Amino acid sequence: MEFPEQPGLSIKRPVMTPKALIHQKYGSSATYRIEEVKDDVENGCPGLTIPQQAKILYRCHLDLPGLSVTSEPYNRKKDAEQSAARIAVEKLHIQPSTNDSTPEEASKELVERISGFFTDGFLSSSHPLIGHFGVALKANREHFGMIPISAIASCDVKVNNLCKIIIYKAESDPLLVSSLILDAARKSSELCTADDGLWIWKKVPYSSETIASVNSRDSDSLGFLKIQALHIPCSIKENVEALTVDVSDDDYYLDLIAQKLNVRDSSQILVSRTVGKASSELKLYFPLPDIPFCEASSDLYRCTRGNVELMLNQRASCLSGQYVYGNAILANIGYSWKTTNLYQENVSICSYYRMLLSKVPDGYYKLSREAILVSELPTEYTGRSNWRGPTPKDLLSAFCHQHRLLEPVFSVTSNDTESSLSHTLVKSSPLSSTEVIDKIGGDRDDVGHRNMDSSDIFRCKVKILSRKMQLILEGSFVDTNRKESDAIHSSALKVLLWFDKYFKQLDIPVETLSSFGSAHGITVSMENVCKEFSLCLSTLGLKQNYCLESSPLESFCKNHPDRKVENGMVMLSIDGPESGIFPSHGSLICIGCAVALVKIGDPEKYPLESEDEFEFEVGTGAVINQIEACVTQLSVNQTALFVTDIPSRDLILAAAGETAKHLLEMPLHNCLLEYSLKVLRVAEPPLEDRMEQAFFNPSLSKQRVMFAIKHINESSAATLVDFGCGSGSLLDSLLDHATSLEKIVGVDISRKGLTRAAKILHQKLSQNSGTCTSIRHAVLYYGSITVPDSHVFGFDIGTCLEVIEHMEEDQASLFGNIALGTFCPRILIVSTPNYEYNPILQRSAAPTSEEKTAPCKFRNHDHRFEWTREQFERWATDLSARHNYHVEFSGVGGSADMEPGFASQIAVFRRNSNLCLPAEEKSSRPYELVWEWPNSQISISSL
Ligand code: SAH
Ligand code: MG
Repeated sequence: MEFPEQPGLSIKRPVMTPKALIHQKYGSSATYRIEEVKDDVENGCPGLTIPQQAKILYRCHLDLPGLSVTSEPYNRKKDAEQSAARIAVEKLHIQPSTNDSTPEEASKELVERISGFFTDGFLSSSHPLIGHFGVALKANREHFGMIPISAIASCDVKVNNLCKIIIYKAESDPLLVSSLILDAARKSSELCTADDGLWIWKKVPYSSETIASVNSRDSDSLGFLKIQALHIPCSIKENVEALTVDVSDDDYYLDLIAQKLNVRDSSQILVSRTVGKASSELKLYFPLPDIPFCEASSDLYRCTRGNVELMLNQRASCLSGQYVYGNAILANIGYSWKTTNLYQENVSICSYYRMLLSKVPDGYYKLSREAILVSELPTEYTGRSNWRGPTPKDLLSAFCHQHRLLEPVFSVTSNDTESSLSHTLVKSSPLSSTEVIDKIGGDRDDVGHRNMDSSDIFRCKVKILSRKMQLILEGSFVDTNRKESDAIHSSALKVLLWFDKYFKQLDIPVETLSSFGSAHGITVSMENVCKEFSLCLSTLGLKQNYCLESSPLESFCKNHPDRKVENGMVMLSIDGPESGIFPSHGSLICIGCAVALVKIGDPEKYPLESEDEFEFEVGTGAVINQIEACVTQLSVNQTALFVTDIPSRDLILAAAGETAKHLLEMPLHNCLLEYSLKVLRVAEPPLEDRMEQAFFNPSLSKQRVMFAIKHINESSAATLVDFGCGSGSLLDSLLDHATSLEKIVGVDISRKGLTRAAKILHQKLSQNSGTCTSIRHAVLYYGSITVPDSHVFGFDIGTCLEVIEHMEEDQASLFGNIALGTFCPRILIVSTPNYEYNPILQRSAAPTSEEKTAPCKFRNHDHRFEWTREQFERWATDLSARHNYHVEFSGVGGSADMEPGFASQIAVFRRNSNLCLPAEEKSSRPYELVWEWPNSQISISSL
């Protein structure tokens, strides 16, 4: 198989993973065993007195016939398995087997393969095709073991693969497959073919023993079965209909299907590949196009193509991704490897519409959330914690899989804008690193919030390629993300949105599409897009397929003059008392919702779907706009009832489940959808970090650090104590900047936070000791900052950033008194959230009228209070007066002279006198030393 060189395409053909290669070669005889290994805290931190938990790593043993290998230890089992497989692949020099044969070799192999089916030996083996031979022998057809080509095409994967190697197009063309099989049979000296149908049989009769043994194979009696199948008319104007195939022991199911297709027998039909789940026998059957047979059937394929295309069944073609001609039948029936009996399952109307829907990104998202009439593919990705349903990355891979494209290729770049040697890091397909980053971001414990370093900025490009390695679409986006995984998901979402637009408006002009694309950072090869998706054209529009004179919603309003259409809906009622908790833009909300079809003037309701609990983020377009407009008028516990015009018939049938059959007969004019919904709860507002990062660049935490550094250098401070240092974000940053500092100390009551801080500081100090920092001495203490300890008396500067709100108010005052009265730093910097700024962070308007004032939630669950500017200033002014300090107010995020002030308010206390006379006993030292740099004095605390 050849892969044409693509100019400008920098990626190689994605190689199979080592595991896939091993599987290809060894199948189930390869066994993987995972062993847990404890990591000997070697990356830990010497001198840390807090006991360390050993980390669990995984090692994988792979046993193959004749070889056993073991991987290095990895964080994740998956990685260990791949690593073991990689070692085996290298040792055994395994190559992917798909590229093994040339078209000529494949042609030869195809002849052999097909001849092989018509041998005594094959009949005593086990293969789905045996079922077909059994029927043929029992039926005593005029020739020996005469079977239709469609049986071979539908049963043998290998045959299909060989056809694909001979002519790549066979992948998408069952007619071509059959024609290649016919060709091959004609080349075989042992086989005969018919002139008037796709039959193949054996020249020499089978031995009587073979026939007897096939006939005596026990398979259970079917009795009389009624199998539900679907008829998909070629004309898109005709509805898909249910159809019953009656099968009994004496029937050949392919003949029965042929009858339903109004053709003579099974030699007159073609069959598609499996549609939908690979494990099913769901296939499309359709008549062999009425075309004269030529000598060489691949010529036949070529010379008649022109006529054939006129009869293309678009819906069926779209389902299978192959050319299907004329009326088609979709049935789940056939001989399989699973049993010797005929396997069969019913196919419902609803499942057909669902399969069709799953081809479109939005449709797949709706289905995967099981809310076809409620949800929509969101237009915005605001982070994993707010996203519901499969992630954009997973959606995009599912989409590519559906349409037989290669897995999307992501490449992430990270720009360290901080470093002077701005370096770029490129990772291809960073599937594993994605998760690592997720973990860091998700790990918010009692320590508070170590903000991700805002200097790391990720961008992600995406490429979508066809199986033939042709570039279909390339996305290169300007926006950046602070997390690698977010960058990947946002990019995947943009690509999905482009495809969605493409599928939903197939009639929009190519130029409009490509300019829409380029406006969003997407470049498309329209030629390749059309090539790949030509089979879906006009089917997936999912548009209204009937014409409405006037919208039923408007005629509904004419009859009810008190009602009016607003936001595409008519609100019928809102019930229940207002609870004061309102969903707003950006909040995560949970609703219950039921949708029914109603006909104007008909009291009956036809229930379509209902969700007890459905979560989504308001303002991202994750639900139909009517619901979005409705929920923002409601408060928690209120219910609403409204009606909308109906969406496409296809969508209704997909949502209808078992009632679909009933609705099929019903004309849908004058129908409305009635939504009844209840707001169950509004989830916590987004986390503090998320807001701080989303709204400020650099992030608020970074700005606080810069603020502290400015004061350190202005006052030439040599010693600093960070009260409530958490996981050391400030101390860590101080090591990266040139300051006047020589000694830094952190105090906290979270051992977890301190452990993390110790590791980070230790690593940094051991790496760059003596270089960019003047800090020679660093200490971490476990202890409460509301308790005096002479270790931290009389420092040049004290910082207490975003800590006091984590204590009760009286404790905050106690800290203030001890800090200024006992610790007595020359300068004390205290920061805390400005409560008045929260409405902006929560992206909702500030409350207007008195009674609607919902208590604005705090920025973090752990906050005990958040003060207004006035409250904070009163607290700080009182303190400074009492302890002979003076105080100045400032902040970061926002500005002092614009309402509502800074996002993070800061008080800078300065001692008035040079002398500090602590009231407390100097010798009191309750703090526990946790870590110290350099470690020489560590023995003090090893008690
Ligand atoms: N200053 C850090 C951490 C802020 S989170 C930063 O800006 O990133 C608040 C921190 O205060 C937590 O680590 C918590 O453990 C700590 N804390 C709360 N009460 C404390 C107390 N009484 N004594 C010491 N630390 C306290
Ligand atoms: Mg906080």
